[in-house]
Amino acid sequence: MSSNPPDVDYDLAIIGSGIAGLAAARVATAKGLSVKIFDKGRRIGGRAATRRANGFTFTHGAQFLTARADEFRDVCAAAVADSALTNWQIGGKAAFIGQPTMRDFAVFLGRDLDISQSVEITSIEAADNHLKFHTAEGIVACGKRAILTPPAPQTAALLRQLAPTLATIADGASYAPCWTAMFGFDEAPPLPVSPEPLQFDEGPIALANYEARRPGSDRANFALTIQASGEWSAQHLEDTSEQTGRTLLAELSSLLGVKMPTPIYEGCHRWRYAKVTKPATSTTKLTSECGRIAIAGDWVIGPRIEAAFLSGLKAFEQLSEASELD
Ligand SMILES: Cc1cc2nc3c(=O)[nH]c(=O)nc-3n(C[C@H](O)[C@H](O)[C@H](O)COP(=O)(O)OP(=O)(O)OC[C@H]3O[C@@H](n4cnc5c(N)ncnc54)[C@H](O)[C@@H]3O)c2cc1C
Repeated sequence: MSSNPPDVDYDLAIIGSGIAGLAAARVATAKGLSVKIFDKGRRIGGRAATRRANGFTFTHGAQFLTARADEFRDVCAAAVADSALTNWQIGGKAAFIGQPTMRDFAVFLGRDLDISQSVEITSIEAADNHLKFHTAEGIVACGKRAILTPPAPQTAALLRQLAPTLATIADGASYAPCWTAMFGFDEAPPLPVSPEPLQFDEGPIALANYEARRPGSDRANFALTIQASGEWSAQHLEDTSEQTGRTLLAELSSLLGVKMPTPIYEGCHRWRYAKVTKPATSTTKLTSECGRIAIAGDWVIGPRIEAAFLSGLKAFEQLSEASELD
């Protein structure tokens, strides 16, 4: 990668290919702008994530999504028509899940967008009415405008010098972490028959999802995903993966009064920024004073996929108003 500015100068560069970044990119692209998304993760979708390992598939981030606002309901309806989402019922309420996996909803949203995964933006420099996006190797792109969608602490770090007001807004958001343990078995585990994930109001476990029972899932996907509560995850944040996985599986066995078979696959993921517990609602202004930078992400509005989507739309709308993008 060159340290000279690349030739391409995008109308808009977006950091993050999670739901917020994809929402902003879709609307900007539809208005005819040249848009580039950079994401440090290997795969599209951010926390709308799916892990494949040893032949098993795990919904290891968001489990389902709900849609209330018209803009998001319309997109969900289009995704259902495209078989990227299907209807589900959670606690008697209408919900959706990605098809065949959660990440496929993000893949649907990202269709035809220009996205580079595995590119971590380490800093943004303002120069001559342009923004230069740096990675550890050098400048990766130039853009007229930017929307940042990483979790609030990471957005704040990128904007501390460049847009201190936005960094301060991001400082106001807080999260609960989530340890997610994943187990694959060579036979169906003896879990109660339930059409939806098991949810627990108290104790270490918040949710247990037997993947074979998810709508659209392979019935031979003997995979179990256990998500710990925010409180327990915070108390055990620095525990090892092995310790955490063992504890959560033993806890679930005890809660359900069943003996689990020995897993043939075990994995654990620590989401440091899983669920927004306090959104940055102190302001409705999501753009910097220069009008060229905006912030988005679930942490701007609330702890759900829908909030992330709406924040992306809102950030682009405000950026357009601030700088006559279209
Ligand atoms: C365990 C868990 C369970 C959940 N359950 C649900 C649920 O059931 N229903 C629901 O609606 N929501 C749920 N959520 C929340 C939901 O996943 C989020 O609200 C939503 O996905 C957030 O989208 P986002 O685009 O704001 O952020 P993210 O998905 O976090 O996307 C931000 C992206 O920015 C990228 N990034 C960060 N820093 C950089 C950088 N410097 N350079 C380049 N890229 C960078 C990251 O790689 C990431 O892909 C859950 C979340 C977790 C973790």
